[in-house]
Amino acid sequence: PSDLSSLAPWSWVASRLFLSIFMLLCCFTSRTEVSYENRRITEKFVYLGTALFTFACFGIIALVPLPAAYNPDIFFHRPAEFIPAVIFLVSLILLLRNGHWKQFYFEHWLVLSLIVAFISQAVFMSHSAQLFDYSFDLAHLLKKAGYICVLTGLLISMYMTFKTEEKNSFRAVSQANMALEAELAMRSRIEARLVKREKELLRSNQELEQFAYIASHDLQEPLRKIQSFGDRLQSHYAEALDERGCDYLQRMRSAAGRMSTLINDLLAFSRIKANTGNHSHVDLNEVLKGVLSDLDWQIEEARALVNSQSLPSLQADGIQMRQLLQNLIGNSIKYRSPDRLPQIDIDCLNEPGYCVIRVKDNGIGFEPQYAQQIFEVFQRLHSRNEYDGTGVGLSVVRRIAEAHGGTAEASSIPGEGSVFIVKLKLKT
Ligand code: ADP
Repeated sequence: PSDLSSLAPWSWVASRLFLSIFMLLCCFTSRTEVSYENRRITEKFVYLGTALFTFACFGIIALVPLPAAYNPDIFFHRPAEFIPAVIFLVSLILLLRNGHWKQFYFEHWLVLSLIVAFISQAVFMSHSAQLFDYSFDLAHLLKKAGYICVLTGLLISMYMTFKTEEKNSFRAVSQANMALEAELAMRSRIEARLVKREKELLRSNQELEQFAYIASHDLQEPLRKIQSFGDRLQSHYAEALDERGCDYLQRMRSAAGRMSTLINDLLAFSRIKANTGNHSHVDLNEVLKGVLSDLDWQIEEARALVNSQSLPSLQADGIQMRQLLQNLIGNSIKYRSPDRLPQIDIDCLNEPGYCVIRVKDNGIGFEPQYAQQIFEVFQRLHSRNEYDGTGVGLSVVRRIAEAHGGTAEASSIPGEGSVFIVKLKLKT
């Protein structure tokens, strides 16, 4: 409804009002952000506020007939300009009281721009009596200077943020690099130590095996002499000895017999090596048949019942497989319960990549805490008077399993029976 000449000066008021309110909002925003971390003024709020204000201005200009903006009769020719001037001033005071301008480049330049904006409003526009007069042009110039201040602050602050971030990320990257390098160095040190230990262990293991082999091998010779002279004494001079002499001789011969078994067991143990060169196609059913025929007498004497499911064929050392089954089945017969007839079940489970042989009996069993210990050399849970043996059988079983890339374990319920589980790696 207003004509163009009276509308033009009001466009200045509207734009300054818009800017000053926007500045005031910014000052409040930064205040509330500082005081209530979780009550931030969102972007949505700012956009909505801006849109509403724009529509309100447009509505006023479009609907209300505006009065003349200039009033040369009073001292300040443009009284309407005081409103944005006051808002600029309030924004300036708020910003100064916030104190952020001392630390942040952008707010520093915002203060400058507000000062310029206030001067532009309060002094010059108040003296402008018509469009494009001296004060009017000066005010426009100052307005642009104010914008440049904001832009400069924005650019400097962006540049500084970028620089600081660059410095921070460079520092973070170099710190991470240093940590990584340190870890790598530590890992390679540990690796080198491990390789060295492994070599030492391998060497000492080989030496130990060699020692056990040589010692037991060399012990056999004098032992054989003791046994053969013992036999001769028994056959030729038994009558010449009194009862006590005969007892001594008998004890000596049985001790020599035990020692011979022990040496043979030790030799068998030290001979087991992971030598895949001896591996061939082995049918475990055939091996089992051979073992059962070897143990024929013991099975018959104990009236043991041996059940076996069909066992698989695999690439393995045939002699070691025989030793393994013989030791396990032999033990199941030896450690049978006096209260019932022994029953031994042999089967094989399917596990990906492994052949899992199980030998289960209903014998005397053992306490679960000994499940690992019994696999160690010379570890026995019973005295020789109760059960004959050397304590090498199960260590041979475990060593054979390990030589075939597997494991040997046992579980048991005392008085009810035991299960021995041997895992052998399948080779293709
Ligand atoms: P040995 O039988 O010569 O004593 P092993 O190494 O074969 O030596 O066995 C170690 C110990 O594990 C045995 O002394 C025995 O106490 C226990 N053991 C082995 N097999 C069984 C079994 N089937 N039932 C109960 N105990 C067993």
